[in-house]
This record gives sequence, C-alpha cells and structure tokens, in this order.
Amino acid sequence: MMSHVEAMELALIEAKKSVALGEVPIGAVVLDGAGNVIGMGHNMTESWNDPTSHAEIMAIRDAVRKVGDWRLTGCRLYVTLEPCLMCAGAIQQSRIAHVIYGAPSPKAGALESLLRTYDIPGFNHYPQVTAGIEAGRCAMILADFFRDKRGSHVVRELRRDVRVVEGARLESE
Ligand SMILES: [Zn+2]
Repeated sequence: MMSHVEAMELALIEAKKSVALGEVPIGAVVLDGAGNVIGMGHNMTESWNDPTSHAEIMAIRDAVRKVGDWRLTGCRLYVTLEPCLMCAGAIQQSRIAHVIYGAPSPKAGALESLLRTYDIPGFNHYPQVTAGIEAGRCAMILADFFRDKRGSHVVRELRRDVRVVEGARLESE
C-alpha cells in the first residue's frame, strides 16, 4: 500500500503538468481501496475556460471512467491544495472515503481554512480528512508559479515600454 507521502508525490507530478500549460499548479490522484492509482488530474481551468475543471474534478472523472461506476466507495483522493467548496462537494458526492491534501488554501479552502464543510450535520456521506501531507512542497510549487508569473508580467511590461520608446523614436525621425 502506497504511503500518504508516496501518493502525494504523484499528485505533485500531476501539479507540475499544469505549469507547462500556464495553469495554476494543483494536482490530484485517486487510489482505490487496494491502493491502485485509478485517476489522475491537474487544474485545467484556463485551458478549457471552465471554472469546474479543478484537479480534483479531473481526477474523479478519470477514476469513474476507469472503474465504470460514479461511486468511488472506499477510495482515497490526494490533492496538493485544500479543496474548494465545489470540490469538497464533488468528493462527497462521489462517496470517496478519505481526502488527503497538502497545503492549506486560506482564500478558498472548504475543509478547514475558510469553512469546515464536513462539520455541517445532516449529509449522507462524510469523507475522512487528513491535512498537511508534503504541505511545504505543495505550497512551494504554487509560490514558484506565481512568482514566475509576476516575473513574466514584468518582462511584458518592459517589452511594451521598449515598443513605446521605439515608436516615439520612429515618430521623431
Ligand atoms: Zn476545487
């Protein structure tokens, strides 16, 4: 059986696939009860222009296609960032037994940071939650992405300034 750290490593590999696409790097994997990887996914929001294409949803879709059953009873979902409200709901709807995440999400986390969805009484299914597996590395890949993005933004601004200067030079010639 794969350890939490080993499974999170696979989710991090998925997250890195987002970077090449200019997507916010978040990755997820689904393991069945025997510990086999049955679903993988990474954030596709920008590529698909779809706010529902979060890593968790992508991994759940992949898993249910593979097993041919929308009920992922007994399965575990690993995700690099704390799930949002939509994903917390999807995890619950798919009957996943255990959700394990890396870094907390102060602005969207719906398991512990912003709200505690699974503390609301009356639902018919409550996944178990484990937080903070490889949290540092999961947060770092996000921090690196946003730092590089700001960097490329600065480069774009510089290029525009150069064009403005060159344009002014052409006009004066
Ligand atoms: Zn989400």
